[in-house]
Amino acid sequence: MNKFGFAIKTPRSENMDKVSLERYHMLLDREPSFKRCFQCGCCSATCSARQFTEFSIRRVHTSFRRGEYAGLDEELQKCMLCGKCTLVCPRGVNLRSLIINMRQILDETKQ
Ligand code: SF4
Ligand code: SF4
Repeated sequence: MNKFGFAIKTPRSENMDKVSLERYHMLLDREPSFKRCFQCGCCSATCSARQFTEFSIRRVHTSFRRGEYAGLDEELQKCMLCGKCTLVCPRGVNLRSLIINMRQILDETKQ
């Protein structure tokens, strides 16, 4: 069967009252520029690691913001800390520092 046109997606909803955002707030304390992110995706579009892997920095920081931490430490190892994403961010988010802090927080709060 030919696949074309639009497909209906299963709606996704999250109850943020049931999610622990402790790590996210730790991240905002350490890198407040993240508050300015408006999810444009420029960081992912320019990412060096994305050329070689499935890594998406936007997906990673969005998951972190939502309190979905599973597998993020492995994902973050794909980043080469080159800093290109920081240069292109239109909101001046210091992504390189954000990534280093996400790694540290996940390490410090490992269960
Ligand atoms: S480029 Fe900046 S504003 Fe856009 S998604 Fe990335 S961090 Fe957020
Ligand atoms: S610092 Fe990491 S996330 Fe940013 S462009 Fe470089 S490899 Fe990608």
